[in-house]
Amino acid sequence: MNNIRILGVAAILLAAISFQTSAQEDTALLKRAEQLHREMFSIDTHNDAIVKYTHPWRSDAGDRTQVTFPKMKEGGLDAALFAVFLSQGPRNENAYDSVMAYTVREMDFFKTYVAEHSSEAGIAYHSSDFWHLKRQGKSIVMFALENGYGIGTDLLNVERLYNLGVRAITLTHNYNNDVADSSRDTIAEWHGLSPFGYQVVEEMNRLGMIVDVSHTSTETLYDCLEHSKAPIIASHSSVRAIKDIPRNLTDEEICAIADKSGLIQVATGRWCLSDLPREQVNISVFCDHVDHVRNLVGADHVGIGTDFDGGGGMVGFEDVSKMKYVTVELLRRGWPEKDIRKFWGENFLRVLREVEKISRQINH
Ligand SMILES: [Zn+2]
Repeated sequence: MNNIRILGVAAILLAAISFQTSAQEDTALLKRAEQLHREMFSIDTHNDAIVKYTHPWRSDAGDRTQVTFPKMKEGGLDAALFAVFLSQGPRNENAYDSVMAYTVREMDFFKTYVAEHSSEAGIAYHSSDFWHLKRQGKSIVMFALENGYGIGTDLLNVERLYNLGVRAITLTHNYNNDVADSSRDTIAEWHGLSPFGYQVVEEMNRLGMIVDVSHTSTETLYDCLEHSKAPIIASHSSVRAIKDIPRNLTDEEICAIADKSGLIQVATGRWCLSDLPREQVNISVFCDHVDHVRNLVGADHVGIGTDFDGGGGMVGFEDVSKMKYVTVELLRRGWPEKDIRKFWGENFLRVLREVEKISRQINH
């Protein structure tokens, strides 16, 4: 064998060994991730899955639903904020009546679905419900509302939504409404919260509901930070320093939310993460956003809001069954387990407990 052939064989052997070593590392990381997911509490703070259950004839429903209870189990995800998504229509009393009726129907339907699957899942209404349901091995649903449009102009609707089980409200979607301005609308109608919006935030504080500023304008975000007595969250928003779109959060906004003990829950939609071609946007790109937030404000203020069934997901992270691979990537990046526990659920529980505590203080 001449020298060149010997070198060639050696290179092939080295490549084979390093491939084997990285495969072994991957298996070890996956085992650690699965163990962590068994022990810790994990929550995804935004999906739009409910509509897939209430409208099963949709082409993206059925098997293509990204969030199902068996998929949550497979991915090691304990809980999620399941949002009733409200697309925006006219802003008048008739429309507001019918959108509230729609919200009630959607929630009733999904509550019935959960009740029919009570061996697999349960609904959480308070922070104290989560561990209780996890210990029973159940997937956990907490209700949210995406778009304060559903509140209309009637403050009593906030309490109606609370009584239905809603515990977080995303104040806007892509258009301004009677509560606040959106990040995607063309004009600043209220320059932040409307006068009614300030009352909505106060009422949410009183009742113990989380104020969610994903989709809202910067002015709305700062008005909420200034006015809310409780921490606020961005339930599904990524980092504008990495992908520059108005829907993502600037570093200043991230710091301001964290300064008031709130959360930045990074979204997984390819469109909000990167301009790279579809096949190159993967969990690593998502974790670049997560690392950016952690480097900026620390692990106490970052989590995940997938936006599954509402635009979330990417190659290799197609649905909720892949959640544990985020943990694999964070472990690979050297995250300590204590930070991974915060990211997945401790941060959210801290904020929800604080929201509930402030509600009790206001009511006594
Ligand atoms: Zn959204």
